[in-house]
Amino acid sequence: MCLSVLLFLLWIKVKGLDYVIVHQRWIFVCLFLLPLSVIFDVYYYLRAWLIFKMCSAPKQHDQRVRNIQRQVREWRKEGGKTHMCTGRPGWLTVSLRVGKYKKTNKNIMINMMDILEVDTQRQVVRVEPLVNMGQITALLNSLGWTLPVLPELDDLTVGGLVMGTGIESSSHIYGLFQHICVAFELVLADGSLVRCTEEENSDLFHAVPWSCGTLGFLVAAEIKIVPASLWVCLQYEPIRGLENICRRFSEASEDKNNTFVEGLQYSLDEAVIMTGTMTDTAEPDKINRIGLHYKPWFFKHVERYLTENKKAVEYIPLRHYYHRHTRSIFWELQDIIPFGNHPVFRWLFGWMVPPKISLLKLTQGETIRQLYEQHHVVQDMLVPMKHIQTAIARFHQDIHVYPLWLCPFMLPPGRGMVHPKGEEAELYVDIGAYGEPGVKHFQAKASCRQLEQFVREVHGFQMLYADVYMERSEFWEMFDGTLYHRLRKELGCQDAFPEVYDKICKAARH
Ligand SMILES: Cc1cc2nc3c(=O)[nH]c(=O)nc-3n(C[C@H](O)[C@H](O)[C@H](O)COP(=O)(O)OP(=O)(O)OC[C@H]3O[C@@H](n4cnc5c(N)ncnc54)[C@H](O)[C@@H]3O)c2cc1C
Repeated sequence: MCLSVLLFLLWIKVKGLDYVIVHQRWIFVCLFLLPLSVIFDVYYYLRAWLIFKMCSAPKQHDQRVRNIQRQVREWRKEGGKTHMCTGRPGWLTVSLRVGKYKKTNKNIMINMMDILEVDTQRQVVRVEPLVNMGQITALLNSLGWTLPVLPELDDLTVGGLVMGTGIESSSHIYGLFQHICVAFELVLADGSLVRCTEEENSDLFHAVPWSCGTLGFLVAAEIKIVPASLWVCLQYEPIRGLENICRRFSEASEDKNNTFVEGLQYSLDEAVIMTGTMTDTAEPDKINRIGLHYKPWFFKHVERYLTENKKAVEYIPLRHYYHRHTRSIFWELQDIIPFGNHPVFRWLFGWMVPPKISLLKLTQGETIRQLYEQHHVVQDMLVPMKHIQTAIARFHQDIHVYPLWLCPFMLPPGRGMVHPKGEEAELYVDIGAYGEPGVKHFQAKASCRQLEQFVREVHGFQMLYADVYMERSEFWEMFDGTLYHRLRKELGCQDAFPEVYDKICKAARH
């Protein structure tokens, strides 16, 4: 044992610590980040559980809101010299980049991470903005309820999903995360507290999603809930040929009998399309508890059906289904722990996986950050379903990253930043590319700009957590700024918050 530790230390000395951290990152991740991540998770889980059981959250909520109002008023009293932003450290967010503005803007501390109320009569849950998806499913599913749209990664927060974007494989029925929200409560630039809904302060209600905290601070949201079942009956269908894939995927997305629709595309002309429904009964021999720590990573499990070229049906516990991509962070973890899906690793250490994205970011260092920026893509592009085939071909040509995540969603007409071109609701698809580009000519800026241009041409949208290379004018060509700009003027946001473009563009983040 001692000898192996000595040899290991010697090897680090010979290679250099930098080399080991960059090229053999798994060593650092497995030895330090995995145990630390477990401690983090246990602490937050116990805290949320205790607070909810003691019912102390609603009482403290008003006090916390007053505290935010006080901070905003102080900022005004001091002359409001810089813009304001949330004080949550950039490394704690799921988005891979850290905003430079955090260092120069006035940080408003919003420590609000409690579920305030589950109202089964009105079918609404009221939550604070830092409540995350893992917390919500743990509580709601145990009470027999769920969110109609439950974005998968445990760490995604309500604030981030409302102010940014949230999507799930049920979005072809319910829309984006913003569309299942019925009320937002915000502290505005003048320190006042407002509630907005479809009927009350309706302009603000429509303008908040995608505004990334540039209209006010979210302090609570009311979100629709629906009854939950025990299982998801999931059908796997391997399909070959791009045209077939697109046709079958569109059909499945239009069929409202499917509660869940998702596609994993493994090459230009190979995909597995999954359709699911909720149910309370399961055929025992078809049960698969995919969330257990020793089970294969979900995208690898799905790929087996493609390799074996067979259709299949499985019954998956609802919560396991929701968080199916959490353990492997979609397929990002294979680049960090290449042997992470090996059965031995899964059985011995799978219960510690995944490392927290926040800890990965905090410890990545400048060299890894730059390597990632140049040789790694994380993009979600939302395009009208009628352009899916061209869009996949463009992804193939410009970046060539597989698997691709295909998630359909219904986009209702509206007047916020994101809505279809016409007055009718339109079916869209989120195409997510996460990984190392396979094209030789890949250049992060040029290749992503080409994709962005294509997305603008087909009246699509780019998710704003990703690297956005558009110029300001191109950005406002993609997003509708009419209502947003009017409200920024009316609510005195211009001196209080940066414009959304200045917050998310490439120059604003590192
Ligand atoms: C690896 C990875 C996987 C992902 N997987 C999914 C997925 O499965 N499904 C999905 O839908 N999306 C996914 N996303 C994208 C995700 O939806 C966005 O990153 C989203 O914005 C949520 O991130 P967050 O909770 O970390 O929020 P943040 O990054 O903390 O917040 C996003 C924006 O909202 C603002 N904001 C947050 N809280 C407040 C507040 N209280 N008041 C005012 N402004 C606020 C922030 O300032 C920021 O501009 C993924 C992203 C990555 C990088």
